Amino acid sequence: MSRFIIGIIIVWALALCPVFAQRTEVPVLCYHQVREWQPDDSKNARVYIIPPARFREHMKALHDSGYRTILPAEHLRYLEKGQQIPDKVVVLTFDDGTISQFTHALPELDKYGFKAVFSIMTVTLDKPGYMSREQVKVLSDRGHVIANHTWDHHNVTKYKSGDWATQLARPGADLERITGKPVPYFVYPFGAWDTTAVRKLKEHGYNGAYQLGGKRDDKDRGYTMRRMIATGYMDGRQLLSAMKSSFR
Ligand SMILES: [Zn+2]
Repeated sequence: MSRFIIGIIIVWALALCPVFAQRTEVPVLCYHQVREWQPDDSKNARVYIIPPARFREHMKALHDSGYRTILPAEHLRYLEKGQQIPDKVVVLTFDDGTISQFTHALPELDKYGFKAVFSIMTVTLDKPGYMSREQVKVLSDRGHVIANHTWDHHNVTKYKSGDWATQLARPGADLERITGKPVPYFVYPFGAWDTTAVRKLKEHGYNGAYQLGGKRDDKDRGYTMRRMIATGYMDGRQLLSAMKSSFR
């Protein structure tokens, strides 16, 4: 067979086979608090706090440019099984379970029929400033995904033996009791992960996990899905352009 024909076959295989093809990364946005900036919020803290009007702009920009949301199950089928999805999809994630996500973000999501992932650290449930168990149940009943974000937000790369039960097993079981559904997704506190954590997540029955902007593990893509922090410093246009450059 000539080299030319072999070349054609290789190009064809790379283009068609999802295992080999470089697939476009699905953009995943990460939000924390959705509330007005207070005078004593530091410049750095404001990266994690988006004023409601800015958040409205973000959701409108996504909607107006044709984005629809997908949830982790579909994201994983795309990543691991090569399922086709439309070009303009996004995963929206909200970390830490602050009440502002329920009061300010939820109505904007509803406006466009967007569904999101809410990652909860169970130590804060029913505490002032955070969502209650009942609110978490409401989110789940409305089709949003509740993910485990540990019991008290400790970095998974520092765990000793008993910590896996405290931070993975018990909070996961708590969230399953609250929602009445399996909780098969995890969100790494601080976005930090290592190969031990990936192994432990698998052992505990998790199907996938989101980090932040770190390097993806190509062997375990579903457990190192990358996210971008959508900050209150970006307007809608800047958000769309940051998504394009962060996820290729
Ligand atoms: Zn967090």
